[in-house]
Amino acid sequence: MLNGIVVKTYNSYYYIQSGSKIVTCNLRGRFKKERFSLLVGDEVIYTMTGPNKGVIEKILPRRSMLKRPMVANVDQVVLTFAAVNPDIKPALVDRFLVIAELSELEIIMCINKTDLADAETVTNLAQHYELIGYRVLSIAAKTGMGIDNLRSLLHDKISVFAGPSGTGKSTILNAIQPGLELTTGEVSHKIGRGKHTTRFAELLPLAGGGFVVDTPGFSFTEFTDINEAHLMHCFPEIAKVAPECKFSTCLHYKEPQCAVKQAVAAGRIHAARYQSYLEILAEIRENKKGY
Ligand code: GDP
Ligand code: ZN
Repeated sequence: MLNGIVVKTYNSYYYIQSGSKIVTCNLRGRFKKERFSLLVGDEVIYTMTGPNKGVIEKILPRRSMLKRPMVANVDQVVLTFAAVNPDIKPALVDRFLVIAELSELEIIMCINKTDLADAETVTNLAQHYELIGYRVLSIAAKTGMGIDNLRSLLHDKISVFAGPSGTGKSTILNAIQPGLELTTGEVSHKIGRGKHTTRFAELLPLAGGGFVVDTPGFSFTEFTDINEAHLMHCFPEIAKVAPECKFSTCLHYKEPQCAVKQAVAAGRIHAARYQSYLEILAEIRENKKGY
């Protein structure tokens, strides 16, 4: 019995990475009905049936599941933004942060292209998100600045990259490990119209251990599958203050004696973050009306 991880699926074959080799596996007959539930990222037990061929005997319990793309056991999301070109848009960053928080994965924020911005701009940007509690790396994929640090954070983990296009995700991966390349999600999203992904993601192995998902995560910034009471938990600084509100059901909108609004007035919660919260809350309500 051997242990491996599904890095790719094709027809009814599963490509299992086991140590440094890839074994092409089928599922044992009794698992056939689970065919569509076995995902890239799943850990399996298999036996060999020939050279580089095997059969999957057991699927191990999942630690996590990412929906877009569908990948099991992802540990963390690397959210990439550019300090400039394209300029960082705080409202868009907040939307990505909310979706990342919803996935319940560890979040690493990368501010890339710092070679193009002045040091003070970069420091202020980084501090803004660090104050909220995020881990922020200031990097420049083009010069290699900060890349060693990021590489060590990816070690032995399954990571997915996400962030607006043009912010340097592909360049960062290539700096981490030459040849490591992202497939842009656009083609499959067009075919899938955002509902059904027509291709499954693959895991790209990192030298020395760990994997990167080959396609960017959650480029969709819709908030259909979130309920309004949960939204505050996607803003760590709001979630922290919320228990002090007079009403336990407070949505920090029009309710009286709201500790969140007081914290915004006192400057303890950034007004732009609160504004993002209100905008997304309004969108969730708007979506609900449609049902
Ligand atoms: P993606 O769409 O997020 O994958 O972004 P790309 O990796 O394709 O990068 C978009 C553009 O930004 C390319 O022209 C890159 O050469 C450039 N770029 C990426 N990282 C850096 C950086 O650190 N500094 C500078 N100056 N340009 C960068
Ligand atoms: Zn409140």
